[in-house]
Amino acid sequence: MGIFGEGIVYKTAEEIAIMREAALVVSRTLGLVAKHLQPGVTPASLDQMAENYIRQQKAIPGFKGLYGCPSTLLISINEQVVHGLPTKRPIQEGDLVSVDCGAIYKGYYGDHAYTFEVGEVSPEKKKLCKVTKECLYLGIEACTTSNRIEDIGYAIQRHAEANGFGIVRDLVGHGLGTKLHEEPQVPNYGRRGQGKRIQNGLTIAIEPMINMGTWKVKTLSDEWTIVTEDGLPSAHFEHDVAVVDGKAEILSSFEYIYEALKL
Ligand code: MG
Ligand code: MG
Repeated sequence: MGIFGEGIVYKTAEEIAIMREAALVVSRTLGLVAKHLQPGVTPASLDQMAENYIRQQKAIPGFKGLYGCPSTLLISINEQVVHGLPTKRPIQEGDLVSVDCGAIYKGYYGDHAYTFEVGEVSPEKKKLCKVTKECLYLGIEACTTSNRIEDIGYAIQRHAEANGFGIVRDLVGHGLGTKLHEEPQVPNYGRRGQGKRIQNGLTIAIEPMINMGTWKVKTLSDEWTIVTEDGLPSAHFEHDVAVVDGKAEILSSFEYIYEALKL
């Protein structure tokens, strides 16, 4: 079951191969969501669809039942940052919809997310999405064995703040494996050259959560949904990566989404 060191569970090549399958269960599910996400559709119906599809792939929803989570997907709209519970309130033209999904396959977790633009969204929202996705890939590029954990957040923070956006501090990326949240925490901000050295076999979810305005967030009375304090929109993209031969290999894929959206 991997090698334990300083609380981090480093994975073997065999484990990483299973984790790629787990991540791709989620990727395919996000592709299905992409196909159906349009004005008038309810988050609750997408959630049911996702659960069925995950089970068809001989996997188990990864979030449902964990920490008391009632759903398969977490769907966060506009000023909702993450952890939005799927409701029956229809999605509208112009919404930014972040869909986060987890699955367990052969005992290992996949956990990744995409923020969708529904129909025509404002140029400001478009820019927020573009920059947040760029932040994700800059974070992944920084995830090498010549760097340390905070170098990932440093790369993300630099790009987000250069664009005038706020970086959520209260929620972070994380180690991933037989547990959804393992060591280490992977903040989306950081100091250059700080934190634990990145080693081969590290498997983490990198997930910038970037706000158009303030970085500050609060939790709604449902005790799940995190929203921006100023009510401005937020975006969230997440990939699962494994460090192999010194650099990050992306285990999850946005290709199913791009295919569905004809991007
Ligand atoms: Mg996630
Ligand atoms: Mg995550």
